[in-house]
Amino acid sequence: MLSEFDIIRQCFDQKGLSAPETELVKTGIGDDCALLSIPTGKELALSMDTLVADVHFPSSAEPALIGARALSVNLSDLAATGAEPCVFTLGITLPEADPDWLMAFAGGLKSIASRYNCALIGGNISRGPLVITVQVHGLVETGNAILRNGASPGDKIFVTGSLGQAGLALKYILGELDGFNAEEEALLHNAYFKPVPRIEAGLALAPFVSAGIDVSDGLLADLGHICQSSGAGAQITLPAVPVSAHLTHRLSEQEALAMAMTAGDDYELLFTARPEHEQSIMALSLQLDVPIHCIGTMTSGSQVICKDAQGAEISFEKDGYQHF
Ligand code: ADP
Ligand code: MG
Repeated sequence: MLSEFDIIRQCFDQKGLSAPETELVKTGIGDDCALLSIPTGKELALSMDTLVADVHFPSSAEPALIGARALSVNLSDLAATGAEPCVFTLGITLPEADPDWLMAFAGGLKSIASRYNCALIGGNISRGPLVITVQVHGLVETGNAILRNGASPGDKIFVTGSLGQAGLALKYILGELDGFNAEEEALLHNAYFKPVPRIEAGLALAPFVSAGIDVSDGLLADLGHICQSSGAGAQITLPAVPVSAHLTHRLSEQEALAMAMTAGDDYELLFTARPEHEQSIMALSLQLDVPIHCIGTMTSGSQVICKDAQGAEISFEKDGYQHF
Protein backbone atom coordinates (compact mmCIF):
# COMPACT_ATOMS: atom_id res chain seq x y z
CA MET A 1 0.00 0.00 0.00
CA LEU A 2 1.36 3.42 -0.92
CA SER A 3 1.35 6.29 1.58
CA GLU A 4 -0.10 9.65 0.56
CA PHE A 5 3.38 11.06 0.01
CA ASP A 6 4.53 8.01 -1.99
CA ILE A 7 1.54 8.55 -4.27
CA ILE A 8 2.43 12.19 -4.83
CA ARG A 9 6.12 11.45 -5.43
CA GLN A 10 5.75 8.36 -7.60
CA CYS A 11 2.58 9.06 -9.51
CA PHE A 12 2.03 12.77 -9.73
CA ASP A 13 5.43 14.47 -9.37
CA GLN A 14 6.79 12.79 -12.50
CA LYS A 15 8.53 14.23 -15.55
CA GLY A 16 6.12 15.26 -18.29
CA LEU A 17 3.26 15.65 -15.80
CA SER A 18 4.37 17.98 -12.99
CA ALA A 19 5.63 21.47 -13.70
CA PRO A 20 9.34 22.26 -13.75
CA GLU A 21 10.31 25.72 -12.51
CA THR A 22 9.67 28.26 -15.26
CA GLU A 23 9.11 32.02 -15.66
CA LEU A 24 5.47 31.35 -14.83
CA VAL A 25 5.76 28.60 -12.19
CA LYS A 26 7.92 29.82 -9.30
CA THR A 27 6.97 26.84 -7.09
CA GLY A 28 5.10 23.66 -8.04
CA ILE A 29 4.34 20.45 -6.13
CA GLY A 30 5.89 20.19 -2.66
CA ASP A 31 5.15 23.40 -0.82
CA ASP A 32 2.06 24.68 0.99
CA CYS A 33 1.05 26.69 -2.06
CA ALA A 34 2.11 26.68 -5.67
CA LEU A 35 3.29 30.10 -6.82
CA LEU A 36 2.57 31.60 -10.24
CA SER A 37 3.99 34.79 -11.71
CA ILE A 38 1.39 36.17 -14.14
CA PRO A 39 3.00 38.05 -17.07
CA THR A 40 2.07 41.72 -17.44
CA GLY A 41 -0.83 42.23 -19.82
CA LYS A 42 -2.34 38.80 -19.20
CA GLU A 43 -5.28 37.60 -17.16
CA LEU A 44 -5.55 34.23 -15.44
CA ALA A 45 -8.53 32.11 -16.58
CA LEU A 46 -9.57 29.41 -14.08
CA SER A 47 -12.03 26.58 -14.40
CA MET A 48 -12.81 23.52 -12.28
CA ASP A 49 -14.72 20.33 -13.02
CA THR A 50 -15.48 17.41 -10.75
CA LEU A 51 -15.91 13.90 -12.12
CA VAL A 52 -17.75 11.50 -9.85
CA ALA A 53 -17.42 7.75 -10.46
CA ASP A 54 -20.65 6.24 -11.80
CA VAL A 55 -22.11 9.70 -12.46
CA HIS A 56 -19.58 11.09 -14.95
CA PHE A 57 -17.81 7.87 -15.88
CA PRO A 58 -18.23 4.17 -15.04
CA SER A 59 -15.96 3.32 -12.07
CA SER A 60 -14.79 0.24 -13.97
CA ALA A 61 -13.39 2.38 -16.82
CA GLU A 62 -9.68 2.19 -17.60
CA PRO A 63 -7.82 4.55 -15.24
CA ALA A 64 -5.73 6.05 -18.06
CA LEU A 65 -8.93 7.07 -19.84
CA ILE A 66 -10.41 8.55 -16.67
CA GLY A 67 -7.26 10.65 -16.23
CA ALA A 68 -7.23 11.79 -19.84
CA ARG A 69 -10.91 12.72 -19.76
CA ALA A 70 -10.66 14.58 -16.44
CA LEU A 71 -8.07 16.97 -17.84
CA SER A 72 -9.55 17.21 -21.35
CA VAL A 73 -13.00 18.36 -20.22
CA ASN A 74 -11.38 21.09 -18.13
CA LEU A 75 -9.16 22.21 -21.00
CA SER A 76 -12.30 22.55 -23.09
CA ASP A 77 -13.42 25.40 -20.80
CA LEU A 78 -10.13 27.19 -21.50
CA ALA A 79 -10.70 26.62 -25.24
CA ALA A 80 -14.16 28.20 -24.96
CA THR A 81 -12.59 31.21 -23.23
CA GLY A 82 -9.85 31.58 -25.85
CA ALA A 83 -7.22 31.05 -23.14
CA GLU A 84 -3.89 29.27 -23.49
CA PRO A 85 -3.52 26.38 -21.01
CA CYS A 86 -0.64 26.65 -18.51
CA VAL A 87 -1.05 24.66 -15.28
CA PHE A 88 -3.56 22.56 -13.34
CA THR A 89 -4.27 21.30 -9.84
CA LEU A 90 -5.78 17.92 -8.97
CA GLY A 91 -7.99 16.87 -6.07
CA ILE A 92 -8.62 13.14 -5.80
CA THR A 93 -10.47 10.98 -3.31
CA LEU A 94 -9.93 7.23 -3.63
CA PRO A 95 -11.37 4.20 -1.85
CA GLU A 96 -7.90 2.56 -1.85
CA ALA A 97 -4.39 3.45 -3.03
CA ASP A 98 -3.91 0.83 -5.76
CA PRO A 99 -0.47 1.61 -7.28
CA ASP A 100 -1.32 0.13 -10.69
CA TRP A 101 -4.54 2.12 -10.94
CA LEU A 102 -2.80 5.33 -9.82
CA MET A 103 0.14 4.98 -12.22
CA ALA A 104 -2.20 4.33 -15.14
CA PHE A 105 -4.42 7.27 -14.11
CA ALA A 106 -1.36 9.55 -13.88
CA GLY A 107 -0.25 8.26 -17.31
CA GLY A 108 -3.58 9.32 -18.81
CA LEU A 109 -3.25 12.77 -17.23
CA LYS A 110 0.33 13.03 -18.51
CA SER A 111 -0.65 12.27 -22.11
CA ILE A 112 -3.02 15.25 -22.15
CA ALA A 113 -0.83 17.51 -19.96
CA SER A 114 2.12 17.14 -22.32
CA ARG A 115 0.01 17.46 -25.49
CA TYR A 116 -1.50 20.78 -24.34
CA ASN A 117 1.46 22.09 -22.35
CA CYS A 118 -0.48 22.18 -19.10
CA ALA A 119 1.56 20.87 -16.14
CA LEU A 120 0.46 19.75 -12.68
CA ILE A 121 1.40 22.17 -9.87
CA GLY A 122 -0.36 20.76 -6.80
CA GLY A 123 -3.44 19.18 -5.36
CA ASN A 124 -4.87 17.11 -2.59
CA ILE A 125 -5.52 13.42 -1.88
CA SER A 126 -7.85 11.78 0.55
CA ARG A 127 -9.70 8.52 1.13
CA GLY A 128 -13.32 8.30 0.03
CA PRO A 129 -15.46 7.35 -2.95
CA LEU A 130 -13.71 7.84 -6.30
CA VAL A 131 -14.04 11.56 -7.16
CA ILE A 132 -11.63 13.55 -9.32
CA THR A 133 -11.50 17.33 -9.39
CA VAL A 134 -9.26 19.20 -11.79
CA GLN A 135 -8.76 22.95 -11.85
CA VAL A 136 -7.09 24.33 -14.96
CA HIS A 137 -5.37 27.69 -15.23
CA GLY A 138 -4.89 29.46 -18.54
CA LEU A 139 -3.63 32.82 -19.75
CA VAL A 140 -5.42 35.28 -21.99
CA GLU A 141 -4.51 38.80 -23.11
CA THR A 142 -6.17 41.29 -20.77
CA GLY A 143 -9.68 42.06 -22.04
CA ASN A 144 -9.62 39.40 -24.81
CA ALA A 145 -11.34 36.47 -23.07
CA ILE A 146 -14.35 34.98 -24.87
CA LEU A 147 -17.33 35.25 -22.52
CA ARG A 148 -20.95 34.12 -22.72
CA ASN A 149 -22.39 37.61 -22.50
CA GLY A 150 -21.14 39.25 -25.71
CA ALA A 151 -23.70 38.10 -28.31
CA SER A 152 -26.00 40.64 -30.01
CA PRO A 153 -29.06 40.23 -32.26
CA GLY A 154 -27.87 39.66 -35.83
CA ASP A 155 -24.72 37.76 -34.81
CA LYS A 156 -24.28 34.45 -36.61
CA ILE A 157 -24.10 31.24 -34.54
CA PHE A 158 -21.37 28.69 -35.28
CA VAL A 159 -20.34 25.29 -33.99
CA THR A 160 -17.11 23.31 -34.51
CA GLY A 161 -17.01 19.62 -35.43
CA SER A 162 -20.17 17.53 -35.37
CA LEU A 163 -22.62 16.77 -32.57
CA GLY A 164 -24.23 13.84 -30.84
CA GLN A 165 -21.40 11.32 -31.02
CA ALA A 166 -20.67 11.42 -27.28
CA GLY A 167 -24.40 11.01 -26.56
CA LEU A 168 -24.45 7.84 -28.66
CA ALA A 169 -21.19 6.73 -27.05
CA LEU A 170 -22.67 7.09 -23.57
CA LYS A 171 -25.62 4.88 -24.51
CA TYR A 172 -23.18 2.28 -25.81
CA ILE A 173 -20.96 2.49 -22.70
CA LEU A 174 -24.00 2.15 -20.41
CA GLY A 175 -25.07 -0.95 -22.38
CA GLU A 176 -28.28 0.65 -23.71
CA LEU A 177 -27.27 0.09 -27.34
CA ASP A 178 -25.33 -2.78 -28.87
CA GLY A 179 -24.61 -4.45 -32.17
CA PHE A 180 -21.68 -2.20 -33.13
CA ASN A 181 -18.66 -3.66 -34.93
CA ALA A 182 -15.19 -3.41 -33.39
CA GLU A 183 -14.28 -0.29 -35.37
CA GLU A 184 -17.46 1.51 -34.30
CA GLU A 185 -16.93 0.45 -30.70
CA ALA A 186 -13.42 1.92 -30.68
CA LEU A 187 -14.72 5.12 -32.19
CA LEU A 188 -17.50 5.48 -29.62
CA HIS A 189 -15.13 4.68 -26.79
CA ASN A 190 -12.83 7.50 -27.93
CA ALA A 191 -15.73 9.91 -28.49
CA TYR A 192 -16.68 9.58 -24.84
CA PHE A 193 -13.33 9.16 -23.09
CA LYS A 194 -11.07 11.20 -25.34
CA PRO A 195 -12.94 14.38 -26.18
CA VAL A 196 -10.60 16.74 -28.04
CA PRO A 197 -10.42 20.13 -26.33
CA ARG A 198 -10.55 22.71 -29.16
CA ILE A 199 -7.65 24.73 -27.77
CA GLU A 200 -6.05 25.77 -31.06
CA ALA A 201 -9.44 26.69 -32.53
CA GLY A 202 -10.41 28.74 -29.45
CA LEU A 203 -7.17 30.72 -29.60
CA ALA A 204 -7.41 31.34 -33.36
CA LEU A 205 -11.13 32.24 -33.36
CA ALA A 206 -11.01 34.54 -30.33
CA PRO A 207 -10.45 37.80 -32.30
CA PHE A 208 -13.65 37.21 -34.32
CA VAL A 209 -15.93 35.87 -31.62
CA SER A 210 -18.54 37.88 -29.70
CA ALA A 211 -19.60 35.12 -27.25
CA GLY A 212 -18.75 31.45 -26.77
CA ILE A 213 -19.21 28.31 -24.71
CA ASP A 214 -18.19 24.66 -25.01
CA VAL A 215 -20.95 22.11 -25.60
CA SER A 216 -20.89 20.09 -22.38
CA ASP A 217 -24.61 19.97 -21.47
CA GLY A 218 -26.07 19.87 -24.99
CA LEU A 219 -26.33 22.37 -27.86
CA LEU A 220 -29.75 23.74 -26.89
CA ALA A 221 -28.90 24.06 -23.21
CA ASP A 222 -25.53 25.67 -23.89
CA LEU A 223 -26.93 28.09 -26.47
CA GLY A 224 -29.55 28.93 -23.82
CA HIS A 225 -26.68 29.97 -21.52
CA ILE A 226 -25.31 32.36 -24.18
CA CYS A 227 -28.82 33.79 -24.72
CA GLN A 228 -29.42 34.31 -21.03
CA SER A 229 -26.03 35.92 -20.38
CA SER A 230 -26.26 38.09 -23.50
CA GLY A 231 -29.93 39.08 -23.03
CA ALA A 232 -30.78 37.85 -26.53
CA GLY A 233 -32.59 35.02 -28.32
CA ALA A 234 -31.46 32.61 -31.03
CA GLN A 235 -32.89 30.97 -34.10
CA ILE A 236 -31.41 27.68 -35.25
CA THR A 237 -31.81 26.33 -38.80
CA LEU A 238 -32.01 22.61 -38.07
CA PRO A 239 -30.82 21.34 -41.50
CA ALA A 240 -27.59 23.31 -40.94
CA VAL A 241 -26.75 21.51 -37.68
CA PRO A 242 -23.82 19.09 -38.20
CA VAL A 243 -25.23 15.80 -36.92
CA SER A 244 -22.50 13.19 -36.46
CA ALA A 245 -22.55 10.61 -39.28
CA HIS A 246 -22.34 7.85 -36.66
CA LEU A 247 -25.79 8.82 -35.45
CA THR A 248 -27.44 8.82 -38.85
CA HIS A 249 -26.17 5.28 -39.45
CA ARG A 250 -27.71 4.02 -36.28
CA LEU A 251 -30.79 6.14 -35.45
CA SER A 252 -33.79 7.50 -37.33
CA GLU A 253 -33.27 10.99 -38.75
CA GLN A 254 -35.45 12.46 -36.00
CA GLU A 255 -33.70 10.60 -33.17
CA ALA A 256 -30.28 11.56 -34.53
CA LEU A 257 -31.21 15.24 -34.70
CA ALA A 258 -32.65 15.16 -31.16
CA MET A 259 -29.46 13.58 -29.85
CA ALA A 260 -27.26 16.13 -31.63
CA MET A 261 -29.36 18.98 -30.20
CA THR A 262 -29.67 17.78 -26.60
CA ALA A 263 -26.94 15.26 -25.68
CA GLY A 264 -23.89 16.65 -23.88
CA ASP A 265 -20.24 15.68 -23.65
CA ASP A 266 -19.20 16.59 -27.21
CA TYR A 267 -16.98 19.50 -26.05
CA GLU A 268 -17.25 21.30 -29.38
CA LEU A 269 -17.14 25.12 -29.40
CA LEU A 270 -20.41 26.98 -29.85
CA PHE A 271 -19.88 30.66 -30.57
CA THR A 272 -21.33 33.79 -32.09
CA ALA A 273 -19.74 36.42 -34.33
CA ARG A 274 -20.76 39.46 -36.37
CA PRO A 275 -21.80 38.39 -39.92
CA GLU A 276 -18.85 40.26 -41.45
CA HIS A 277 -16.49 37.80 -39.76
CA GLU A 278 -18.08 34.72 -41.35
CA GLN A 279 -15.52 34.56 -44.20
CA SER A 280 -12.54 34.82 -41.86
CA ILE A 281 -14.05 32.12 -39.65
CA MET A 282 -14.54 29.78 -42.62
CA ALA A 283 -10.96 30.47 -43.75
CA LEU A 284 -9.75 29.51 -40.26
CA SER A 285 -11.83 26.33 -40.44
CA LEU A 286 -9.83 25.26 -43.52
CA GLN A 287 -6.53 26.39 -42.06
CA LEU A 288 -7.10 24.57 -38.75
CA ASP A 289 -8.72 21.58 -40.44
CA VAL A 290 -11.62 21.88 -38.01
CA PRO A 291 -15.11 21.81 -39.54
CA ILE A 292 -17.13 24.90 -38.58
CA HIS A 293 -20.82 25.29 -39.47
CA CYS A 294 -23.03 28.36 -39.29
CA ILE A 295 -26.25 27.07 -37.71
CA GLY A 296 -28.33 30.16 -37.06
CA THR A 297 -28.62 33.77 -35.98
CA MET A 298 -29.02 35.59 -32.67
CA THR A 299 -32.34 37.44 -32.35
CA SER A 300 -33.82 40.18 -30.23
CA GLY A 301 -36.01 37.62 -28.41
CA SER A 302 -35.06 35.64 -25.33
CA GLN A 303 -35.71 32.03 -26.39
CA VAL A 304 -33.89 29.52 -28.58
CA ILE A 305 -36.19 28.71 -31.52
CA CYS A 306 -35.49 25.85 -33.94
CA LYS A 307 -36.86 25.77 -37.49
CA ASP A 308 -36.91 22.94 -40.03
CA ALA A 309 -36.24 23.24 -43.78
CA GLN A 310 -39.84 24.45 -44.37
CA GLY A 311 -39.56 27.11 -41.66
CA ALA A 312 -41.82 25.26 -39.20
CA GLU A 313 -40.93 25.53 -35.54
CA ILE A 314 -39.69 22.28 -33.95
CA SER A 315 -39.30 21.69 -30.22
CA PHE A 316 -37.26 19.06 -28.39
CA GLU A 317 -38.19 17.19 -25.22
CA LYS A 318 -35.24 18.14 -23.09
CA ASP A 319 -32.61 20.85 -23.42
CA GLY A 320 -29.70 18.83 -22.13
CA TYR A 321 -28.26 17.19 -19.07
CA GLN A 322 -28.88 18.68 -15.64
CA HIS A 323 -27.71 17.23 -12.34
CA PHE A 324 -30.63 18.37 -10.18
P1 ADP B 1 -0.75 20.62 2.82
O1 ADP B 1 -0.95 19.65 3.98
O2 ADP B 1 0.17 21.75 3.16
O3 ADP B 1 -2.02 21.04 2.20
P2 ADP B 1 -0.16 18.24 1.39
O4 ADP B 1 0.62 17.47 2.38
O5 ADP B 1 -1.61 17.94 1.23
O6 ADP B 1 0.03 19.79 1.69
O7 ADP B 1 0.51 18.12 -0.05
C1 ADP B 1 1.92 18.21 -0.19
C2 ADP B 1 2.23 18.72 -1.57
O8 ADP B 1 1.80 17.77 -2.55
C3 ADP B 1 1.54 20.04 -1.90
O9 ADP B 1 2.43 20.83 -2.65
C4 ADP B 1 0.36 19.61 -2.72
O10 ADP B 1 -0.05 20.62 -3.64
C5 ADP B 1 0.90 18.39 -3.45
N1 ADP B 1 -0.17 17.44 -3.77
C6 ADP B 1 -1.03 16.83 -2.92
N2 ADP B 1 -1.90 16.05 -3.58
C7 ADP B 1 -1.59 16.17 -4.89
C8 ADP B 1 -2.15 15.64 -6.11
N3 ADP B 1 -3.21 14.84 -6.09
N4 ADP B 1 -1.57 16.01 -7.26
C9 ADP B 1 -0.54 16.84 -7.27
N5 ADP B 1 0.05 17.37 -6.20
C10 ADP B 1 -0.47 17.05 -5.02
MG1 MG C 1 0.17 23.26 4.24
